[in-house]
Parts: sequence; C-alpha cells; structure tokens
Amino acid sequence: MALDISAIRGQFPILDSGLIYLDNAATAQKPQIVINAIKEFYETKNANVHRGMHGLAEQATVAYENARIAVQKFINSAHTEEIIFTKGCTESINIVANGFIHPDDHIILSILEHHSNIVPWMTKKAELHWIDIDDAGNLNIKDFEKILTKEKIKLVAITGQSNVLGTRPPLKDIIQKAHAAGARVFVDAAQLIAHHQINVQELDCDFLSFSGHKLYGPTGVGVLYGKRELLEKMPPFIGGGMMIKEVTLTGFTPADIPQKFEGGTPPIAQAIGLNAAIDWLAQFNWKDVEEHEHNLINHAIQTMNQIDGLIILPSCHGEKKIAQDDTERSGCLSFIIEGIHPHDLTDILGEHGICLRAGHHCTMPLHKRLEIPASTRVSFGIYNTKEEIDILSDAIERARHIIQGNSKSYKLKAIS
Ligand code: PMP
Repeated sequence: MALDISAIRGQFPILDSGLIYLDNAATAQKPQIVINAIKEFYETKNANVHRGMHGLAEQATVAYENARIAVQKFINSAHTEEIIFTKGCTESINIVANGFIHPDDHIILSILEHHSNIVPWMTKKAELHWIDIDDAGNLNIKDFEKILTKEKIKLVAITGQSNVLGTRPPLKDIIQKAHAAGARVFVDAAQLIAHHQINVQELDCDFLSFSGHKLYGPTGVGVLYGKRELLEKMPPFIGGGMMIKEVTLTGFTPADIPQKFEGGTPPIAQAIGLNAAIDWLAQFNWKDVEEHEHNLINHAIQTMNQIDGLIILPSCHGEKKIAQDDTERSGCLSFIIEGIHPHDLTDILGEHGICLRAGHHCTMPLHKRLEIPASTRVSFGIYNTKEEIDILSDAIERARHIIQGNSKSYKLKAIS
C-alpha cells in the first residue's frame, strides 16, 4: 500500500515552515509523537533510573527498560542485554574499539566508511586493510576475499549503507565470508537503520550500531548491539556509577551487561524518545518505505541528470556513467557540478529554504579516492516528495546561473 505522504508530513511540525529538508542523512526530523513522549517523560516521570526506591524512579526505570525491549524487538536481537544504550553511533563504535581490539589486530574496512568507523580503530593502533569500490560505487568483493585469505583478520567493520553514495554493501555475503575466515563483523548501521529492516540474528553480525537521531528519534541516544558472549568478555568503556557490582579501596568489579557499558546517568528521556520513534515507524510496512524512497532516488537521478555539468557520484571526471535507475542505492546521493564549489551551491540553496549538505561528509578517504575535495549530498526521509526534488532541481539550475554569473538577477522561482 502506498504511503500517505501528506498525512505523514502533517505529523512533523518543523515541516510546516515550508522548508525543503533533504539533509536526512545528517539527522532526520522528529514526528510530534516523539516530541510529546520526551515532554511527557519530563512532565510526569522524570527521575533517575536503576537507583531510586520511590515511585517516580520505578516508572522511569520501567520506561527506560521498555525502550531497551523496543530496540531488541526492532532489530530482533536474541537477548535484551545485548542492547546497550550509548550517546550515539560514534560512542558505540568506540566501545567496540576499546574493548575488542588490541594494537596490531588486523581490521578490514571499506573506502566507503564514515570517519566514525575509521578513527576509533586507528586510535587502537590496529592494522587497517581497505576494500575499494568499483565504478558504480559498489564494494569490490574480490578485494575483500583476497585480504581475508592473506591476513588473520580479527574484525570486518563495514557500513550498511554509504552516507555519500547511498550504496549498500552485501552484508550477508560479507558476514558469511568473514565468519568462514574466523573474523567477526561490526556493522555501522547509522544510515541503513532508517531505510531498511534490520534483523541482527538473520544477518548474524557480531556487533551493530546506530544513532536515534537518524531514525526520527532524539539526539543524544544511540545503540550498540553485540552478541552476548562477546560483550561479556569486553571491558567497560566508561567508568563511574552504575557500571559496577562492587567498589573497594583497591579496585572494582564491573556490572553485568548491559549496565557494564552504561556508566553514569544514561540518556533516559532520549531512550524513551527513541522508543516512541520505533513505535511510530512500526505503523509502516518496510516494503512501502523502501519503495517510496527508491522512487524518490530514481526521480532525483532522472531530473538531476538533466542539469548541465552535474555529475552524480561516484562518476567523476565529467562522465555520467552510473546515474541509472537500476543502480542499487538508498537514502542519499551526492553530486558535483563542474566549476562550482559545493559550499557556494548549498549556501544559495540554504538561503532559499532548501537544506542540503556540502563538504566531505566525514568521508575524506572516499572523497580522496574519487579525487574530489567535497560534494553536495541530497538525502531522503520518509516525508520527502517528488515535488520537492523538482523544486530542488530547478533551484540548482538557477543557483548555477547565479554563481556562474550568467544571470545575476535570476530569482529562485519556486522557493522565493
Ligand atoms: N556512520 C555513518 C555512516 C554516519 O553517517 C554517521 C553520522 N553521519 C555516523 C557513523 C556517526 O553517527 P553519530 O554522529 O550520530 O554518532
């Protein structure tokens, strides 16, 4: 059944302003029901969790632990304690780097990775091996297989969906091959989580992380999923209250998972907001969400391909090689326009109420590989429409005229 986009948009108060929000890969907007859940928590249940004996503390604890169960069901993990609340995807990755990786361990990464899935491994002085992409932006699986046979790999740390190209590595295949070679697999699902149903048991990944804020939930909360037997062996990341069983003058015994990794006051209201976002999403069928977003991407490719000098990545050097309907991509696409800096373009569009992102999108190795310093990204959410893409394409065309000085007084029609 097709999604009722206008009804969906009606649930996002920020969209009333008339903004065209196409920066969902950075953070998604929040439906009223999520905003209400956070407000309601502070108005009626606010207390710290796991420590108070009074009624409010009990209610807050129940709500916080219910959020953990909601996440467990959402990604279908086998056990509730495999769900760790963190402050975001980046912290989740750092927990795994800190607890699972030792200096000189060998890790396979892909050139698609976000800095959050690169730097934490570097801080542990791991030896990194890189999988390249082909001309269409898909992972070169032969590279991957070759590295697996050559080195004793401890971990494959791989994105579920590129935050620049929108391409999705074949996770199941990668996980099977990594396991056969004795390696574990970490999935950075920061982007994938809002665009595709994730089932960690079916995938059989060993770790997976995401942030609440890209899933129509609040900032300040993220999730680390890890297989129980792995999390149990890992040391805590942050020391402090609530992550211990016992503290003496000479040492401490860590708490069991998940508390071991949740030192200090956790993101209580944010976890409750995330629960509301998950419940809100449950009203939709994933197939419908994917179909809608797939149509948006295809429409964007078709219309943007008409713009002179615009090149959709990864095609560079002036060739429009891969901007086809059948390219496997989801969530976003990025482009360059010859002779125009992405920042100039997005500045002008931003002034006219169109929100895009310009820069390296925290993927400097990928941009270096594509031989460009920066690009402009268009990223989609469930509430975006083809009409918005038409306005965007028209605005890009007009902004190009302004920047290139062909028509200084040209007004951005549809969005002025
Ligand atoms: N990985 C990917 C692929 C991302 O796109 C992002 C956010 N842009 C992150 C990790 C980090 O997420 P956060 O900033 O929410 O910790």
